Amino acid sequence: MTMTVEGHLRALPKVELHCHVEGAARASTIAELARRNGVALPVEDPEELFEFEDLNQFLDVYGVICRSLVTVDDFRRITYEALEDAVAAGVRYREMFVSPAFVMGFGVPLATVWEGVAQGLADAHADLPVRCRMVLDVDKPSGPAAAMELVAFAAEQDRDVLVGIGADSVERGIDHAAFAPVFAAAADAGLHRTCHAGEDGPAANIRTAIEQLGVERVDHGFRLLDDPELTRRVVDEGIALTSCPLSNVLIARVVPDVGHHPFIEQRRQGVRATLNSDDPGMTRTDVTDDFLAVHRELGADLHELEQVVLDAVDASFAPDDEKVALRSELGAEFARLRDMGSPLVDAAPVGASATGERR
Ligand SMILES: [Zn+2]
Repeated sequence: MTMTVEGHLRALPKVELHCHVEGAARASTIAELARRNGVALPVEDPEELFEFEDLNQFLDVYGVICRSLVTVDDFRRITYEALEDAVAAGVRYREMFVSPAFVMGFGVPLATVWEGVAQGLADAHADLPVRCRMVLDVDKPSGPAAAMELVAFAAEQDRDVLVGIGADSVERGIDHAAFAPVFAAAADAGLHRTCHAGEDGPAANIRTAIEQLGVERVDHGFRLLDDPELTRRVVDEGIALTSCPLSNVLIARVVPDVGHHPFIEQRRQGVRATLNSDDPGMTRTDVTDDFLAVHRELGADLHELEQVVLDAVDASFAPDDEKVALRSELGAEFARLRDMGSPLVDAAPVGASATGERR
């Protein structure tokens, strides 16, 4: 029996560096937690909970999710379930964001959030074939002072569980450079640094993140190619992008479909762009769907997709010895899957037009 393309890409072992635990929550879980915590839902059917037409509606749904998360066990549960769903998508290693600003705004202490997340992670490590580290995401609109408090908290935690800080939410109206002292403090504390930039904002935000915030990788970086000089620098310095093509279509709506996404062009120019799901619960996708979409709509072949996974290993914040072990585990698994007779193994390389699946 031969494997289908979808079966092969689902089974392909993956490394995911850009996924938000709140955005990974299942609608059914949020509906249950909302009822238990006395939060009114805008719809009767949990299946309709995560339907949104634009960014404003998306933020409304995100608000419902955050209001529904109250207790330590709520955070434990969404963390654990996010990793169960990651395993189903073939993810072997993930770095996952938690963005406590919203729930803290609703009165939930940061210690509650973190205790639940850390417990969910420990439970998942005991039960599931996946390893995950967390990145504490600061909310840019909440400003640098609030971000500095999160960095101070992060600096006190177990570095093997909380590996770094990120910065999330809208770019419009944000002075990214104002976060320079926050990122400098994170670097001084030995925390890794990443930042959402150039998603629906300009390439200049990517430049600020690299030059003034000193980030080690860039989340999204959708607009990078607008600045050829910056693109060369990103290539030369090996700065990775954590791209989220389906999220860019479904949430930020910066492209009408994955066929118009710059992901493959970025890689052709030498950028280490990786594939990630961003908010898989809310978009009702997982990272396998991103792999399938860039194969079907951008013509990425198996070799390219395996290389995307290996680039994500290099771009991860895992210790070097763990990266070496992960690369060898993944290489063996790639070879085993290649022997299972999927049509991907013989498919034409990127640039050829014989597959009939490309636009
Ligand atoms: Zn994101």
